[in-house]
Amino acid sequence: MKKNGGYDYIFAGAGAATLQIVGKFLEHKQFAKKSILILEQNTNKANDRTWCFWEEKSKNDWLPFVHSQWENITFSSESIQLKESILPYAYKMVRSNTYYTHVRELIAKNKNIKLRYEKVETFKPNAEWVDVYTDQNIYAGAYFFNSIFDWSVVRQQSKYPVLQQHFVGWFIKTDEDCFDASTANFMDFCVAQKGNTRFMYLLPLSATEALVEYTLFSKNLLQIAEYEREIRKYLTQKNVRNYRIVETEQGNIPMTCYPFSKHNSERVLHIGSAGGWTKASTGFTFKFIEQKAKKLVSFLITQSDMRLFEKRNRFWWYDLLFLDVLARYNHKGSFLFSKLFQHNNPITILRFLDEKTTFKQEIRIMRSFPVVMFIGELLRRLVRSLH
Ligand SMILES: Cc1cc2nc3c(=O)[nH]c(=O)nc-3n(C[C@H](O)[C@H](O)[C@H](O)COP(=O)(O)OP(=O)(O)OC[C@H]3O[C@@H](n4cnc5c(N)ncnc54)[C@H](O)[C@@H]3O)c2cc1C
Repeated sequence: MKKNGGYDYIFAGAGAATLQIVGKFLEHKQFAKKSILILEQNTNKANDRTWCFWEEKSKNDWLPFVHSQWENITFSSESIQLKESILPYAYKMVRSNTYYTHVRELIAKNKNIKLRYEKVETFKPNAEWVDVYTDQNIYAGAYFFNSIFDWSVVRQQSKYPVLQQHFVGWFIKTDEDCFDASTANFMDFCVAQKGNTRFMYLLPLSATEALVEYTLFSKNLLQIAEYEREIRKYLTQKNVRNYRIVETEQGNIPMTCYPFSKHNSERVLHIGSAGGWTKASTGFTFKFIEQKAKKLVSFLITQSDMRLFEKRNRFWWYDLLFLDVLARYNHKGSFLFSKLFQHNNPITILRFLDEKTTFKQEIRIMRSFPVVMFIGELLRRLVRSLH
């Protein structure tokens, strides 16, 4: 359908979700003739994200973009110090700029795809198309994919807890060898918790380079100075003294089971974090976007009603219960994650977070946690769902 000189597909935002979906379109001949418009407000998108994820070490799909990878991880807290191999997985890091540049080059070679730098202000679906209003134009699209995350949507409700994974990270370079580049420090809870779930995340890129992030899973952001103070303190504790900050990174990722899909309609699909594709209990999103992009491409070949795309699974319920607990007992995050790593093999944990475990394995994982805390929260949730 093309009306008003319109497009088959319009995307709001040219971030991870849009680019992965459009990248998948380019692999399928069914989409070769579709007219696609991507609207992005930021003319200067570069290394604004460091995307890390785990997958089989042998998988090569992201290879051209992988900046670093690790076969071992550590987990540390007051009660447990653990260093384990995660083979057959590897923990991989992609820096966004290389990926943005690659997809932008592909887009430039395909006449059916246009990327315009305009700010999307609103959209209005009707029975046959969707009008998309930007600061410069109005476009009509048969389908509209929205990746613009709106915090006010989740903050206007209280049924589902809303935490944030928020952090400030420094890429540092040291004068002397300080890091073991074979091992990613996944979570180090040996920092003051101050009533929240707070940890350090340290990814060594070489013996003299690392990304170190002070991270919280909590409701409210801190002042930048506090994240920075804690990074400085941590580096001193680890005897990392002579270093330069080469680059910085900052983010806050939504952690919520809010059902974003209820805003989808026949011709509108919310994608990426705006579509609830962020794993609520961890903030990991990148690999879920990959899975959803693949699924969406197959879906679009046979289906036309976007309300049918999202399906809830049992992992949504696990995430909801975990977030209910973490929101109420935010100071207990170190204790809860320690229990998880104490009682389960890290490979099973990663598989669980990927939503690929069996029910039997999931029961075993759940038994790692204090039953009373979770039963109490489950009962509260059941009562809440009756209202
Ligand atoms: C710093 C950072 C690091 C992260 N690291 C990881 C990680 O290691 N692993 C992981 O799994 N996840 C990570 N995430 C979470 C998640 O993977 C990323 O946020 C991912 O980029 C989400 O993709 P998206 O397409 O939903 O949103 P985005 O990539 O944010 O894309 C949305 C796009 O919309 C544009 N936009 C916004 N408003 C408008 C408007 N009005 N008009 C037009 N365009 C607009 C934005 O400029 C942006 O380009 C990280 C997030 C951040 C912020």
